[in-house]
Amino acid sequence: MRITVLGSGACLPSKERGAAAYCVALEQFTLLVDCGSGATRQMARAGLDFRAIDMVCLSHVHPDHAGDLAILVQALKVSPERRKELVVGGDRRIGAFYRQVVTEMVGSVGNFTVRVVDLEKGFEGPQVRIATMRVPHSAPALALRLTTEEGMSVVFTGDTGWTDDLVAFCRGADLLVADSSTAEGPPLSGHMTGEQCGRLAALAGVGRLFLSHFYPATDPQQCAAACRRHYDGPVVLAEDLLVVTMMAS
Ligand SMILES: [Zn+2]
Ligand SMILES: [Zn+2]
Repeated sequence: MRITVLGSGACLPSKERGAAAYCVALEQFTLLVDCGSGATRQMARAGLDFRAIDMVCLSHVHPDHAGDLAILVQALKVSPERRKELVVGGDRRIGAFYRQVVTEMVGSVGNFTVRVVDLEKGFEGPQVRIATMRVPHSAPALALRLTTEEGMSVVFTGDTGWTDDLVAFCRGADLLVADSSTAEGPPLSGHMTGEQCGRLAALAGVGRLFLSHFYPATDPQQCAAACRRHYDGPVVLAEDLLVVTMMAS
């Protein structure tokens, strides 16, 4: 499994960080987890082929997580060699979002099909299984847990405030990619602090922690320091175009 961070930022413009998006490449199946504004261009910068994407999973439809979906679909539409299906997954309202936003902007596509799936019902794809849980945020939002056929698991919290339910959902994951919008103190509403991310990682016993979703004013080093008060495993500060390869043990 190779994970490329396409965007480690949030909804405010930043010179260094794009909006949330991660490319998860398995041997025969490639997903985007979130597709925030600029994600398609970030794929080009990372040397990734947008035509290879099999599935886009949206944690929620805020523009910093979903703003580039129409751009991606448009790019695929004008690539006649693209024949394979695109799966678009999100919460139970994803069908309406796709019609009202993407179809409205891009129109119908003829060279490939789009299959919209409700990830709240779970998803079984080639090489990967996806489970979700509803998380507290200012819009309906999901955390996603991807489990590969070799048994590797990665949790993306998406945007979320603290909830005890995340501990069981993240339990034993090999990697946790967490919303660390600020370092410590009162969290931004609907987001976690680095300290809470560390507490979650420690309570859930995850193998490795990625802190991400940094605002321009957030100091990632402070997030890491706050996180370390609880979690003594490996901590990675997400950066755009960072690539992490995970091997099944
Ligand atoms: Zn966000
Ligand atoms: Zn959000």
